[in-house]
Amino acid sequence: MIKDLFHKNRPTYSLEVFPPKKDADVSVIYDALDQFKTLHPSFISVTYGAGGNTAENTFAIASYIQNQCGIEALTHLTCVAIPDKLFLTNFLTNLYRNGIRNLLALRGDQPRTMTDEQFAARYYEHASDLTRDVKAAYDFSVAGACYPEVHPEASGMEEDIKNLKKKIDEGVDFLITQMFYDNQVFFRFIEKVRAAGIEVPVLAGLMPITSASQVKNIVGMSGTKLPKKLADDLERFKDSPEDLKKAGLDFTKKQMAELLERGVDGIHLYSMNKVETARAIYE
Ligand code: FAD
Repeated sequence: MIKDLFHKNRPTYSLEVFPPKKDADVSVIYDALDQFKTLHPSFISVTYGAGGNTAENTFAIASYIQNQCGIEALTHLTCVAIPDKLFLTNFLTNLYRNGIRNLLALRGDQPRTMTDEQFAARYYEHASDLTRDVKAAYDFSVAGACYPEVHPEASGMEEDIKNLKKKIDEGVDFLITQMFYDNQVFFRFIEKVRAAGIEVPVLAGLMPITSASQVKNIVGMSGTKLPKKLADDLERFKDSPEDLKKAGLDFTKKQMAELLERGVDGIHLYSMNKVETARAIYE
């Protein structure tokens, strides 16, 4: 189980992958996983489409990581994709039977296919509610998400950390941050988290920017702020993909070096399924 790794193996180095879209070639992700395996990550996490549209692929990919690659798999699961308790019980039992003992409990965002009423009426309201039932059912390692730049729906850091503590009190064993690019923001967040009595490992979520299109997505979707130096470099190299990629990777390497120097519990790389990126960072 992942929670045991932290006793012997800190800092951890982990990767996140996502299942390919429904009509895409699934073999691409399995090829990527065979390459990721050679980097010996501490664990690999697999995202879950908020509306449940990736369910089968998420499960199959997690099983491959755990059983074929011999690496701990962390399966994501969102409250918005859980219609009732029976669904959760079946999901967890399937994981258990396939040797997977790790779950990232998430709320998820409202999918486009879901009305406001359906979203408001979801069976589990928050990741903390989901964590409670997972822990009651199985001795799994449960991870939770956290937000150094504050979750967009929270009124502020204080409220967000108060809510984060609820997840921990329900049994979350470790946390993974939303991606961030300013280490000072992360260090301030850690201080506040520790002051609130949260002692579990907090893994820093890093996503190297390797293309111009990624910039818009990152800033647009997660509200993550880019430091001026990085924003300037990305602007300067917007018509030169190779230079932009190099600037993005160099930035993440420096970011990671400082985090490691300051004793971060682990680095979680949002790999975007790109082997080349993960290898460059790993090396
Ligand atoms: P929660 O912990 O429920 O928090 C959501 C909001 O509610 C916050 O504002 C919080 O302050 C507040 N809150 C929390 N608990 C309580 C409580 N008990 N009472 C009152 N208020 C509360 N999305 C996907 O669809 N699929 C994925 O695979 C996926 N993977 C992710 C991985 C990571 C590492 C991260 C950081 C995010 C991921 N997301 C994923 C996105 C995530 O689903 C969204 O950020 C979502 O908006 C919040 O999820 P959460 O689990 O943090 O929610």
